[in-house]
Amino acid sequence: MRDVGHFIGGEHVAGRSGRSSDIFQPMTGEVVGKVALAGADEVRRAVENAKAAQPAWAAVNPQRRARVMMRFLQLVADEVDSLADLLAREHGKTVLDAKGDIQRGVEVAEFSLGVPHLMKGEFTDNAGPGIDVYSMRQPLGVVAGITPFNFPAMIPLWKFAPAIACGNAFILKPSERDPGVPMRMAELMIEAGLPAGILNVVNGDKTAVDAILDDPHIKAVGFVGSTPIAEYVYSRATAAGKRAQCFGGAKNHMIIMPDADMDQAVDALIGAGYGSAGERCMAVSVAVPVGQATADALMEKLVPRVEGLKIGLSTDSSADYGPLVTREAVERVRNYIDIGVKEGARLAVDGRDFKMQGYEDGFYLGGCLFDEVTPDMRIYKEEIFGPVLSVVRAKDYGEALKLPSEHEYGNGVAIFTRDGDAARDFAAKVEVGMVGINVPIPVPIAYYTFGGWKRSGFGDLNQHGPDSIRFYTKTKTVTSRWPSGVKEGAQFSIPTME
Ligand code: NAD
Repeated sequence: MRDVGHFIGGEHVAGRSGRSSDIFQPMTGEVVGKVALAGADEVRRAVENAKAAQPAWAAVNPQRRARVMMRFLQLVADEVDSLADLLAREHGKTVLDAKGDIQRGVEVAEFSLGVPHLMKGEFTDNAGPGIDVYSMRQPLGVVAGITPFNFPAMIPLWKFAPAIACGNAFILKPSERDPGVPMRMAELMIEAGLPAGILNVVNGDKTAVDAILDDPHIKAVGFVGSTPIAEYVYSRATAAGKRAQCFGGAKNHMIIMPDADMDQAVDALIGAGYGSAGERCMAVSVAVPVGQATADALMEKLVPRVEGLKIGLSTDSSADYGPLVTREAVERVRNYIDIGVKEGARLAVDGRDFKMQGYEDGFYLGGCLFDEVTPDMRIYKEEIFGPVLSVVRAKDYGEALKLPSEHEYGNGVAIFTRDGDAARDFAAKVEVGMVGINVPIPVPIAYYTFGGWKRSGFGDLNQHGPDSIRFYTKTKTVTSRWPSGVKEGAQFSIPTME
């Protein structure tokens, strides 16, 4: 049994609140550890450490800050196998998928190595008589990240890598379900040369989150998780005068046009719908074939593929996906399947009775496929976050375009077609933040930004890419004139450059 506390001021500290939560190994269903749930005092202690360390870190030149990140990336590469194993055992996703989780985070940390260039300001020589104007980007101070269970390496890295590279100190509140990898990454940052107090990990639940939101020394909060909590964090953080970016849930559609390569579309749906047991914010959960003939052809190929999914242990390299994160998650998804059946959707593949032989206590669920789902059903409107795909049949392209555009979520969407005109029209018109053309999971590469629209994202700036530098810095603009410049005497009207 592991006991996970907090990581404050460069060292492990035991929890002092008296509250803790179980850490499960989803593939067996066993409790493998306990994680401390911080009280407000522990959050305060982390903030004090961060506050004390931050000015000296901000004074380190950006190239040296980038070098710490470079050494950290080497340390992560050296132990990627054990990190992926730990991640898979706590989360449930396969080890191969866990490596992808780490890699997509690493890519954002690599982007942050460019911070000496990315933080450069602008300069205008001779903007007025003897006047030069320049701008500079400065770190905010102490900032925080609150992250979900489903990407325990990637999303913490999306948050703390750019923030720290910009000269901020960071308080990370990872998910209490899988805190192992975030804690290990904090140790590796210290090993890489990061001063103590710049990256603190406070484990916990709502109590810790509320303490972060109420702390006046924390200047910005980046959140990723479900929409109700994203909205709550956004409103409470901004009401307290903090900068906030909060990303929420999703219902990602994939449109299959009549001219699409059907084998390619089915491969894409199987991987994007069921990979990681559907526990991805960019998972495809709605397939929209256009026209009855396309729908029938799709179902004919899709049903046997869903029936043939290989569900396995997280450590099984031949498994398509592993268990879900908790028993409650399995129950929640099962409940949605029951609702779908009651609402009149046709359950073409029913995975509810799947049992993993020898691991009957593990948190497994077979792949489920609904056909004839309609937009008024709860299984269409709400995020299920499990291995369940809903097919909504659209009569034409116009109806297919309307579905994701009018859905309350707007994270990702994809269109599969060979028609360039249709693809271009779709990309221009669809009301969703990230679009794939023959690409089912259009998570942008690290040097573009990631962010959903509508109720999938609250705040103005996206995650990673150039927006992350904007989010974690503030701009100062300096207008300067030296004594040798033009002397005007006292001036009582608004200064102009004339
Ligand atoms: P969650 O909302 O339950 O938890 C997210 C974080 O908020 C965790 O750190 C958790 O401890 C904390 N939290 C939970 N309840 C809280 C409360 N009442 N008050 C304050 N804080 C609270 O989300 P989850 O189940 O960990 O993650 C899955 C969700 O995250 C899905 O909805 C998924 O779509 C979403 N997600 C979104 C993105 C994105 O970029 N849009 C990426 C990954 C996951």
